[in-house]
Amino acid sequence: MGAVISRVDPYGVGSKYGFKVGDEIITINGQLLTDILDYHFISTEHKLAINFVRNGYPHSTVIHKEESESLGLDFTSEVFDGIRKCANKCIFCFEDQMPRTMRKSLFIRDDDYRLSFLHGSYISLTNLSESDIRRITGMRLSPLYVSIHATDPQVRTRIMGSNQAGNIMKSLEKLKTHNIQFHAQIVVLPGINDGKVLKGTLQDLFNFYPTVRTVAIVPVGVTRYRQKDDPVRPVKEADAKHIYELVGKFQKRAEQKYHFPLFYLADEFYILLSKDFPRYSHYGFFDQIGNGVGLCRKFITDFNRRKRYLPRQMKEVQRVWAITGELGYKVLNPLVKDLEKVNNLDFRLIPVENNFFGRTVTVTGLLTGQDVLNTLKKKIQEWGKPDRILLPDIVLKDNLFLDDMTLEEIRKETGVEIDAVPSNATGLIDGILKKLKVSLPPDDEIPPHEDEIEDEEHIETDSGVVPPGASIRKKRKKGEKYSAKAGCSHSRKTQCR
Ligand code: SF4
Repeated sequence: MGAVISRVDPYGVGSKYGFKVGDEIITINGQLLTDILDYHFISTEHKLAINFVRNGYPHSTVIHKEESESLGLDFTSEVFDGIRKCANKCIFCFEDQMPRTMRKSLFIRDDDYRLSFLHGSYISLTNLSESDIRRITGMRLSPLYVSIHATDPQVRTRIMGSNQAGNIMKSLEKLKTHNIQFHAQIVVLPGINDGKVLKGTLQDLFNFYPTVRTVAIVPVGVTRYRQKDDPVRPVKEADAKHIYELVGKFQKRAEQKYHFPLFYLADEFYILLSKDFPRYSHYGFFDQIGNGVGLCRKFITDFNRRKRYLPRQMKEVQRVWAITGELGYKVLNPLVKDLEKVNNLDFRLIPVENNFFGRTVTVTGLLTGQDVLNTLKKKIQEWGKPDRILLPDIVLKDNLFLDDMTLEEIRKETGVEIDAVPSNATGLIDGILKKLKVSLPPDDEIPPHEDEIEDEEHIETDSGVVPPGASIRKKRKKGEKYSAKAGCSHSRKTQCR
């Protein structure tokens, strides 16, 4: 167990002391390194006695540096003692809903508080020992991201298939005692944790503010690989209506008491119910964007903010297609009219049906290479070849689709230039502008869209805690001059659903 170096900054302290890629750091100042948190914590010291292994032989060195100076080393992993695996058997786990032929890395179920803190992965708290709690509190690993699903012990135990799952309120109390905040998610399974159970869960979490910072309510994902007698079924329109109304009541209460909504519905609910997405300011810091909460509003606003940079006309005729999932199509299609105004630009949005996982899966991130290729072939037959195709990079990992197909294979099969672009409004517009050899200005130089401008004053709470929504409101008031510093920050999170 050690920290294996993957990159050495040529101008860094580590390079000066001769560290090389492949060296494995075992201890610093006598302390074993279990993860990147240990490394960052210890390596701030002025003098570092480092034991490491090179080519199987032990070495040691002593480094003297400024306390603030970084060693300039990257590592092959952030957890040196191995990822903490999930010990639950959730009845809705997405890993159980994939064909076994898919690549093994997709079946790793992590439940690691370190990755939760570092990357916003959701954890269940069912595998935390007392020493983990001590480490979390000692190192102030806050906020964490916690999958709640239900606070009713029996329901949570049933959902998560773990005897530890029923202790959720005790675990949350511990976090509260030690002042460790958390973002929460509730994956709604109709007939199992909706209705009264959901009401109880929302009430319990309502009482946990400010320890709980935001709560995302997301519909369960169901693929065609589920068993027929399975109790898990997708959220239908009637379910969504009840959930929307219930969550709406809690949002109102939270607005009154805490001055921000606290509870956030996933975008799918608004689409399923054909409702407008809430205003930009509703989402505060977009803390749950990785969970599909506010993604659509952010895309729409960001697109509107950037569309002024679209040219009136392209120099020559450009036929550009953009791939999206069925859900994305519903959101993006109304924006296409702005692209149609550009002379010489023939832009088409191509929705791809998810035949691999089944039609109930509509998000872009779960599209496979097979489905993308089949759709493109059909469209090319119908309309002829475009000049370029834009593919949102969320469907790729290391240039591979979920079904291990490569982007190069699709390029070869279609004979069309395909660009993987960032899965956001900038990626789409930059992708279109590429041939003009221009790109959008940096984000903080683009003036805001009216969606982002609020006319409310900043609100201080009695407790002195600044609610996420209120912090955004503080940035600008109606008519106030644009400041290049304005803009919202968000973190990308993986999701366990
Ligand atoms: S849904 Fe998450 S917590 Fe549940 S079994 Fe799957 S990986 Fe584990």
